[in-house]
Amino acid sequence: MIKRHILTIVMLLVLGTIVSVLLAWAIWARPMPTGGVLWVLEAGPSEMRWWRENAPPSFAQQPTGWVGEVEQRAFGRCVTSLDFDSPNTVTPRIRNTVMRIRAGWPMLSMEGSTWTDPLRRKGSRHYLYYPPSGWPCSKWGIPYRPLWLGVATNTVVMAFILWLLLLGRLAVRRIVRIKRGLCPACAYPVGSNAICTECGKPLRHRTAKVAT
Ligand SMILES: [Zn+2]
Repeated sequence: MIKRHILTIVMLLVLGTIVSVLLAWAIWARPMPTGGVLWVLEAGPSEMRWWRENAPPSFAQQPTGWVGEVEQRAFGRCVTSLDFDSPNTVTPRIRNTVMRIRAGWPMLSMEGSTWTDPLRRKGSRHYLYYPPSGWPCSKWGIPYRPLWLGVATNTVVMAFILWLLLLGRLAVRRIVRIKRGLCPACAYPVGSNAICTECGKPLRHRTAKVAT
């Protein structure tokens, strides 16, 4: 019995992981709504830390000067643009741009980014899969780097929802069987016995009454 419960939990968690990842990509595949909340601000310490941890070798490991940040948030996704004056450029107008893409619900769980260096005419893409043109997300790519806290949270939430659906399905099956005068556990037709003659499960008084 305990073994069966553990197996159910493991199955729910595996399915929950798959559902949460597919949901993140499904949300991302829909066009960004124009009404999404937009923030324009100076990049904060968390964005700077993210930069240091993710910048490709061709980029400055620590951007200097003012770093602008534009963040667009909508249901289940967030697009952050970091715009900064390159420390190597003479004209401050030439700016490097970093685009950070995240998706997932209820927490952001998948990440990808693009790093554009206009001076060197170089760009690099991190953790983004680009489908063939004409497919959904062929322009922006699909982010596939797992953000583990988000993945774990979303997995538990999805597993819980799947568990509720499973309970609901079992409850409906039970009601249908009782109505038809069948054993709710094994669907064997029950007589007036107190226990099922097929599986030995005790039957409720109501069940026996329906059958007689
Ligand atoms: Zn039975």
